[in-house]
Amino acid sequence: MALHIVEEAERCLTCKKPLCQKGCPVSTPIPQAITLFRERKINEAGELLFENNPMSAVCSLICNHGAQCEGHCVRGRKGTPIHFSAIENYISTTYLDRLRLKRAEPCGKRSAIIGGGPAGLVAALKLAQAGVDVTIFDQNPRLGGVMRYGIPSYRLSKDVLDRFQQHLEGLGVKVRHNTQIGESLTIADLFRDGYDSIFVGTGTWRAQTLGIKGEAGGNVLFGLDYLRSPHTAEIGERVAVIGAGNTAMDVARTAFRQGAREVTLYARSKHISASSDELEYALLDGAELLQGKAIQYITEEGPVFRTAIFDEDDRVVGYEDDLDQVSCDTVIVAVSQKPRNKLIQTTEGLEGDDRGLLIVDEHGMCTVPGVFAAGDVVTGPNTVVHAVAATKVAVKGMLSYMGVGA
Ligand SMILES: Cc1cc2nc3c(=O)[nH]c(=O)nc-3n(C[C@H](O)[C@H](O)[C@H](O)COP(=O)(O)OP(=O)(O)OC[C@H]3O[C@@H](n4cnc5c(N)ncnc54)[C@H](O)[C@@H]3O)c2cc1C
Repeated sequence: MALHIVEEAERCLTCKKPLCQKGCPVSTPIPQAITLFRERKINEAGELLFENNPMSAVCSLICNHGAQCEGHCVRGRKGTPIHFSAIENYISTTYLDRLRLKRAEPCGKRSAIIGGGPAGLVAALKLAQAGVDVTIFDQNPRLGGVMRYGIPSYRLSKDVLDRFQQHLEGLGVKVRHNTQIGESLTIADLFRDGYDSIFVGTGTWRAQTLGIKGEAGGNVLFGLDYLRSPHTAEIGERVAVIGAGNTAMDVARTAFRQGAREVTLYARSKHISASSDELEYALLDGAELLQGKAIQYITEEGPVFRTAIFDEDDRVVGYEDDLDQVSCDTVIVAVSQKPRNKLIQTTEGLEGDDRGLLIVDEHGMCTVPGVFAAGDVVTGPNTVVHAVAATKVAVKGMLSYMGVGA
């Protein structure tokens, strides 16, 4: 591994106009990091990456590198792109162990963070580093959001999240676990208790339903509910997964690891929203992908589909008359997620769009002054790196709103 990444770094052209950096949603300074790495300045390289993206160690493992940094590398035009993800992983995981964050001088302001996923964690870190007194509220017993409760451990070790939390606590960040805002406590209560600004990073934790008969059956599960605690579900040997996004791929791969023998992914069209890597891994694990399968309803035996007819451009132009009853032990619906609506329901003036996603201005501020938001609760299901990029904007907005560093 070490030799490989050193060779990879040596191949980098350290372009003056780095397309890799342009392809990264959080604009990672890749050539500078690689230059420092080549000079064996691991701490400096780590600091550079962490300052720009505190989730660098996570992103090095789970970003869609083929579509982002590595997909834009000029070396990739005529050959193999630089595998920056492997270099980043080495630098960032090494740095996370060496990181010593200093507590900043208190600035006299307090912020509440609702949600401890990547958006909330980055907001907490950046605000605490600016001297803000920060408290995170999360409905779950552990921090990390989807990184802990959705993305399986074989793709992302939870150890990195624990180390991140230790660094936050070292900065004086307080955490209230098992506390859902919008239940006993509301955003109004947080303002009442003296928080000067509030960051909402609550993600999308409500399963998108299909709205079909049979969806409430005992043989049906929703993707994220299953991934939260796969060991508590008896899924049997034959599993039908409805959907073809990244969640569906994680569901399929987790099902195999839980003893399933036949896992079939059913996609409505030829469009696959999962990254090509994730699809490839699911197929390697043994999943079968059937496209053009529009689910109609679910029986105790399994899902019932209509089969699409495609034209030469792979567009669905109609459906065959016959229904196709599939026989399986468990149906797992993984078509998408949307936000829970508790915060909007319990906060006067907090507006969402027709999907329940929070509306924010260019500074990340919601329709209630002092309340900011970023991540999936604003964009809908997206990625960790996009959550980080938007959170950086919102944190700037919060600091300016509170007059910190002005
Ligand atoms: C199965 C799956 C696999 C994925 N794979 C990848 C991948 O490989 N690469 C990638 O980049 N992205 C992936 N994603 C997407 C990525 O995980 C999300 O885009 C990212 O986690 C969004 O971050 P967030 O902080 O906005 O929300 P979340 O990670 O959803 O975190 C929200 C947090 O808010 C808490 N919360 C919610 N409501 C409340 C409330 N009212 N009060 C208190 N706490 C609350 C939740 O407990 C949670 O901790 C995947 C998503 C899923 C579902």
